Amino acid sequence: MTRGAEVAANLERLRERIERACAAVDRPADGVRTIVVTKTFPASDVRLLAELGVRDVGENRHQEAVAKYQECRDLDLRWHFVGAVQSNKAAAVAAYADVVHSIDRPKLVAALDQGAHAADRRVGCLVQVSLDEPGAQQGRSGADPDRVDALAELVSRAGRLDLLGVMGVAPLDGDPDKAFARLADVAAGVRARFPAATVISAGMSGDLEAALGRGATHVRVGTAVLGARGAKG
Ligand SMILES: *Cc1c(COP(=O)(O)O)cnc(C)c1O
Repeated sequence: MTRGAEVAANLERLRERIERACAAVDRPADGVRTIVVTKTFPASDVRLLAELGVRDVGENRHQEAVAKYQECRDLDLRWHFVGAVQSNKAAAVAAYADVVHSIDRPKLVAALDQGAHAADRRVGCLVQVSLDEPGAQQGRSGADPDRVDALAELVSRAGRLDLLGVMGVAPLDGDPDKAFARLADVAAGVRARFPAATVISAGMSGDLEAALGRGATHVRVGTAVLGARGAKG
């Protein structure tokens, strides 16, 4: 099978999974956006995805993201930055990212806003919420739920940033349904204060059904579309 046929078949299977998961909770599947996470895969795959109708791609490391963005500038894609952003890279990320999913601290808000000013553009932002059980040892990233409102407020006041909503990654060893239920609660709190912040970015290849069951509007899918990444992904 060619790479194109393989990726096309994977995209079709993913579409069916999303439709089934949405049907199970009685919500329309056409409200769900799929972001294909292309980290560790070459720019040629990004091009292939664009040919297959994918409009949203995600990356998690600045060096790799900016290189692929530059190779694929002619394509009409929306670039999502889904990984941790180092403060000293924030301005550079703001020059090409359309949406940053990983706002987890005040310093990052200021740095992204400055970068967006310098690049004369706007950047969409999601506050990343930690979904670890209270007291968890090995946390995945994100702001503690009780700090999310303050971060959302900061983003909403930044001149060049648009507060779009929240993002979460389920803990490796926990119950994804419980984690995404917590995220839905936090999202509702943010939306009560900022009605335009409607995005819930949640769900990956292994847990997108649970996320869609708890109201995810955007899923971030890598492996299920492009295959296994190997050690460094
Ligand atoms: C890699 C990554 C994904 C995609 O993960 P898969 O399990 O390959 O679908 C989603 N979100 C984030 C933040 C990631 O880093």
